Amino acid sequence: MSLSPLVTDTALRSAEREKKKAEHELKLQEEEIAKIMKEIEAEEKALENAKKKVETQKEKAEGVTECPLCCNPYEHQLTSIYVPYQFECGHTFCKTCVNKMFDDKNNAASEDDRKGPMRIECPFCRKIEYLRNPKYLNPEYQIMNHTLRTLLRLV
Ligand SMILES: [Zn+2]
Ligand SMILES: [Zn+2]
Repeated sequence: MSLSPLVTDTALRSAEREKKKAEHELKLQEEEIAKIMKEIEAEEKALENAKKKVETQKEKAEGVTECPLCCNPYEHQLTSIYVPYQFECGHTFCKTCVNKMFDDKNNAASEDDRKGPMRIECPFCRKIEYLRNPKYLNPEYQIMNHTLRTLLRLV
């Protein structure tokens, strides 16, 4: 049995419509993929920038060998009171000086303010650094700080 030309024509049109629809969907998917690729690219760029920033700060920190405030050479043992601490702005100070900045602020702060981090201005660029108490005032340091003060009084 043969199909009438009309049936063939309708079937053909319907097939063409289906094809167009599929092509349109494919195009939409391609556009979606292109959009996602662009987003990935942007995220990769942001990551690259963040990595660069960290590296620059690391280099800055490693290039400096002594605390610019007290001129003591940095020591890299965690227990050292001259272990370098880097502010968000990239400036680095020894733990002793950072603790002193914290103590000064903390002593002047109200009871309520002491519950939150202290707002410390970088002595060089005045950018605000938020310091939290337990991070900087560990007992080990307090003991050493006390010993140091005692020794200094004796000299
Ligand atoms: Zn210092
Ligand atoms: Zn700074």
